[in-house]
Amino acid sequence: EFKLYEKKTGNSRKMYEKACEVIPGGVSANIKYFEPHPIVMKKAGKSKLYDVDGNEYVDYLLCYGAMILGHGHTSVVEAVNKQLQVNGTAIFGTPHINETTMAKKIIELFSGIEMVRFTNSGTEATLFAIRMAMAYNGKSKIAKFEGHYHGGYDQVLLSVHPDIQKAGDAKEPKTIKESRGISDYYVNNTVILPFNDIESTKKILKKHADDISAVIMEPVQSGFIPADLEFMQELRKVTEELDILLIYDEVKTGFRLTLGGAQDIYGIKPDLTSLGKVLGGGFPVGAVGGKKEILEIVSPTGYGDILTPSASNDDKSLGLFHSGTYNGHPTVLAAGLATINELEKDNVMNSLIENTNYLREKLEGLYKSYNIPMQTVGMGSIFNIVLTDKKIKNYRDMNSADSKLRKEIDYALLELGVYSKPLNRYSMSTAHTIDDINFTINAHEKAIKRVMGR
Ligand code: PMP
Repeated sequence: EFKLYEKKTGNSRKMYEKACEVIPGGVSANIKYFEPHPIVMKKAGKSKLYDVDGNEYVDYLLCYGAMILGHGHTSVVEAVNKQLQVNGTAIFGTPHINETTMAKKIIELFSGIEMVRFTNSGTEATLFAIRMAMAYNGKSKIAKFEGHYHGGYDQVLLSVHPDIQKAGDAKEPKTIKESRGISDYYVNNTVILPFNDIESTKKILKKHADDISAVIMEPVQSGFIPADLEFMQELRKVTEELDILLIYDEVKTGFRLTLGGAQDIYGIKPDLTSLGKVLGGGFPVGAVGGKKEILEIVSPTGYGDILTPSASNDDKSLGLFHSGTYNGHPTVLAAGLATINELEKDNVMNSLIENTNYLREKLEGLYKSYNIPMQTVGMGSIFNIVLTDKKIKNYRDMNSADSKLRKEIDYALLELGVYSKPLNRYSMSTAHTIDDINFTINAHEKAIKRVMGR
C-alpha cells in the first residue's frame, strides 16, 4: 500500500534503517515516526523541506508549529549570527541582558503575565508551573483535560489510551497511563476532566477541590480544537471560587493565535502560563509566567514566610527550586526576539491568518465538490482536516472522523510534495506564499482523485 511512497523515499529508508541500529525505533522522539518509515530531511528554506532523495515539500509540520516565520528567516539568522560572532556560543551561565529584554516583551504581550522564568522546553515549563502551583497553595493534586498534551512526563501523561474503552465515561474520564514506567503515585494524584463540558468539569472539580492545586489546560486542544468562550469563562469563575489555580499551557497558542496568545483572544487571565515553540525562533525553549505573587515564591527571593500560609504541606525553611544549565540561553532568546520583532510588523499576523483562512475555505469547497464529509477545525494559523460532519468539541469526537481515508490522502500528498505528518494538523508560516497555497489545494485534488479512483 506504500508502493509509491517507497519509490520516492529509498534513501530515507536506507538512512532510517541505519538509524534503527543505534537509536530505538530510529527516532529521537516517538512523534517523528510514521509507517512504513519517516522521511529523512536534508535541508529547509522558507516554506519548504528537502529530503535525502531530492524531493521538495511545502511544509505544514513546521516543527509542530514552532517555525512561524518558516525556515531560515533572514532576521533570525542574522540575530543568531550576531550573537555567535560577538560571544561565540554565548552561554555564560550568568544573567544576560536578553533574558530581561525577552521577559519584558512577554509581559507586554500576555495579559496574565507579570513575571517570567525561562526553561529549555515546553515540557519543563509546564512541569515547573505545576510545582509552583503546588508550592503556592500547598495542595498536592492537579487536574488536566482528557487528550491535552503538556509534555512527556509522568504527572501529565495520563489521559490517552489506544483503547478508548479504557478511558471510561466521557463525562468523568479515568486517569490512565499513556506509557509504561509511570508510577501509580501520579495516577492517584491527577484528575482528568472532560474538555468543553463545563457541567461535568465543575462537578469533578467540586468533588476534589480540597486536593486540586491547579487545573492545567490547552486553550486550543492540540492546537486546533478551540475551547468555547463560555466554557473558558465558567472555568475561570469556578477555579477562583474553589481556590484552584488556572494554568494556560500556551506552548502552541502563544505568539500564534495572536501575539498575546489565547488569553488575549478569550480576554481571560490565567494565574500561570507556559510558553515554548515560537518563543525560541527555532531553538529549544520554554518559559513560565504569571502573577507576581506566585512567581515571587521562587528562590532565591521566596524563602520562608514569603510562602503563602496555606502551603501547609511544605517545609517553609525550603525555597522553591528551579534551575537549568541552559535556561535563558542568550542565542536562543536572540532568535526568539528577532522572531517576535518580525511578527509585530504591520499586517504580518493578519495576513498569516488570512492566508490560513483562504486555504481552509478552498479545501472545504474542494472536498465538498467530491462529496467527502469534511471540515477544517482550527483557530488562527493552525487547523486540522477532519473527515466528518459531526461537530468537533473534544478529543473523543475525533473518533468519528474517517481516519483511514485521511491517511490515504496524506500519503498521496507526501508523494505529491505536501508535507504533513500523516493525520497531523496543519501549521502555517508567514513564508507560505499564495503559490504554495494553490499548489497545496491542487495537490489535495490530485490526492482525492487518486484515492477515490476517479
Ligand atoms: N505543551 C503543549 C501545549 C505542547 O504543544 C507541547 C509540545 N508539542 C508541550 C507542552 C511540550 O513542549 P516541548 O516539546 O518543547 O517539551
